[in-house]
Amino acid sequence: MQFKDLQLNKPILKAISVKKYELASPVQEQTIPLVLAKKDVIASAQTGTGKTAAFALPILQLLFDKQDAGKKAKKIRALIVSPTRELAIQIDESFKAYGKYTNLRSSVLFGGTSIEPQKDVLKKGVDILIATPGRLLDLHKQDCVNLDYVETFVLDEADLMLDMGFIDDVKKIERLCPKEKQVLLFSATMPNKIVELANSILKNPVTVDVTPKSSAAESVNQLLYYVPKQKKMELCLHLLRNNIKGDILIFRRTKFGVEKLEKMLKKNGYNADSIHGDKTQSAREDALNKFKSKEVNILIATDVASRGIDIKNLDAVINFDIPNVPETYVHRIGRTGRAGKLGSSYSFCAADEKTYITTIQALLSFPISVEENHPYPLDPNAKPEVYIKKGSSHKKNRKSAASKKNKKRWY
Ligand code: AMP
Repeated sequence: MQFKDLQLNKPILKAISVKKYELASPVQEQTIPLVLAKKDVIASAQTGTGKTAAFALPILQLLFDKQDAGKKAKKIRALIVSPTRELAIQIDESFKAYGKYTNLRSSVLFGGTSIEPQKDVLKKGVDILIATPGRLLDLHKQDCVNLDYVETFVLDEADLMLDMGFIDDVKKIERLCPKEKQVLLFSATMPNKIVELANSILKNPVTVDVTPKSSAAESVNQLLYYVPKQKKMELCLHLLRNNIKGDILIFRRTKFGVEKLEKMLKKNGYNADSIHGDKTQSAREDALNKFKSKEVNILIATDVASRGIDIKNLDAVINFDIPNVPETYVHRIGRTGRAGKLGSSYSFCAADEKTYITTIQALLSFPISVEENHPYPLDPNAKPEVYIKKGSSHKKNRKSAASKKNKKRWY
């Protein structure tokens, strides 16, 4: 469907033509008319499907059409809450691009950076505010944000909000907005907790579903490598030397793992950079820009740091660690094989990750091809590796190994 058939007005259509979008994507085709009709919407859609424009275009149009004639101070009339800084920045860039020919102003708030300039921007007034939950609540506490005039509230990447423990903050933010408002909720997956949240804050929502369970899988050639944990680095180097070329995104579970792999790849002459939650905002942006501009061709990331970032034309995804949440696997491999192109994913499974593969396969409803022909095969009878220090009781060390593992599992 063409954008002009979606009842969008001239300034918006002009901005779309500058972006050279030819046709509306399925999520846009379905969502835009609903938002324009002021419906609440709950949409299952992943990053990469064009979901930002699906809400940004009609919101801009609604705000543009209904503006105060006088030049009163701007009030926040649309609020978009996003779980990560990177995603919030991207959404703001989209609003700025799509709203280029309107007089509407957007701004973005996120933590990990000085609060004062953000206060100054808020003082000047914005129509559209994009924010991560913590910083928004901080600024609200300091009386710098007034949400009394919000007409549309968007909750983006709701399932990631849940994973990151932001759901209570989101509920608080929703209560700070007027009761009568339009609510749009976007989520790549719909766990029960998100459905419950949607039931509590949306009114008679219309459901848009453009994410068939295995949609990412069809354009991605998925390969699974069983490999002992301590041989994963070698397998990674072997595949980079012989099989995997181009722009590659490698996922690791922990910040520590990301840094270790980055060091090792650099030592072996690869151009790699990384993003994770302990890096400063500017270091994360720098790494992302280097990857987008092809200064480096390997980016190593934790899930949370990378979620939502828009990287096009990725050739391959490596799951250096298998995610323990099956939907995360679908997200990760969905980074490649986009826009009709073929992509590849390489997943390294150690003995203690086999159970994760079982749940992933249940979600995909078909088996992932196992590559047996590689130099570091896992003994099929290998038991999960548990590290036991000499001189301590077995029980105690199992416990400490488990608690260490838990400690490492944050982003
Ligand atoms: P999103 O899912 O919102 O992160 O969008 C993914 C990418 O698709 C972004 O780079 C958008 O600029 C691009 N995009 C969004 N809508 C369209 C469209 N209708 N045609 C072509 N590209 C699009």
